[in-house]
Amino acid sequence: MTKPTPTEIGHGYDAFADLLDQIWGENLHHGYWDDTFDETSLEDATNRLTDKLSGLLTIEPGDRLLDLGCGIGEPAIKLATAHDIEVVGVSISERQVQRANDRVASAGLAGRLSFQLADAMELPFPDESFDIVWALESLHHMPDRWHVLRQVARVLRPGGRVAIGDFLLVSGADGQEPDAARVREVSKGVLSIVGIDEYLSNIRAAGLVPEAIEDVSKHTQPSWGKAAVRFEALRDQALPHIGAEQFELTLSRFHGFSEESTLGYVLLTARKPV
Ligand code: SAH
Repeated sequence: MTKPTPTEIGHGYDAFADLLDQIWGENLHHGYWDDTFDETSLEDATNRLTDKLSGLLTIEPGDRLLDLGCGIGEPAIKLATAHDIEVVGVSISERQVQRANDRVASAGLAGRLSFQLADAMELPFPDESFDIVWALESLHHMPDRWHVLRQVARVLRPGGRVAIGDFLLVSGADGQEPDAARVREVSKGVLSIVGIDEYLSNIRAAGLVPEAIEDVSKHTQPSWGKAAVRFEALRDQALPHIGAEQFELTLSRFHGFSEESTLGYVLLTARKPV
């Protein structure tokens, strides 16, 4: 199976847009748990991951932040509520953009928050127009992460920062060797990941200087199993939207990922030099 195009990803999220929050909650990303005894709910744990990533940044009042792959806007709303900043979010899913925009007024953030349909591969923004770019669990969908990072460097002002949450190839439990090919197979061809050295060298090649790097793999790993349980419970609701084949494929991915200990997760930040 080949990696879906941005348009196909967008249609996939459109079909899923009103179901996904019953799986992940309003954050469409992994949760963070302290350890295996931590009984925090998936919803609270996903908020924690947002906090972990924003905690790696210094966010100044008046900053302009681009949320790359904004989902239904929950992380953007959280960031704009906690900090006096302006946020522009982009997603490749029309339905997500609509839902995210519908939430702005009730969050009391009209005028500071907006969402639009755009492909991160071709960002429709001028050079040096943002202080911060935020990409939480979205780069793995894009046809070429490193091309997107060059776009990120272009739209950041000198001294601006990028915050990334992404999948990472790691040594697994019991020293299992990192194996990108196996992860790709488990994902049925859609997920390509690299180790930290390759990730960092591509960040540098895009003209950015890595700053904070946190391997949170152990803390996020429980997400897949928890999502699989919720997804399975949604079978009857999901089938009319996505069909049986897609349902089984997605479920088998969630189960496969929950057992793949070399599929890790990294939080990192980088700066565009002045
Ligand atoms: N960051 C959000 C959503 C993560 S889900 C959250 O944490 O809640 C992945 C997101 O990436 C979706 O919104 C999807 O539409 C977006 N995405 C995937 N490929 C994209 C592309 N090529 N351009 C813009 N957004 C994209």
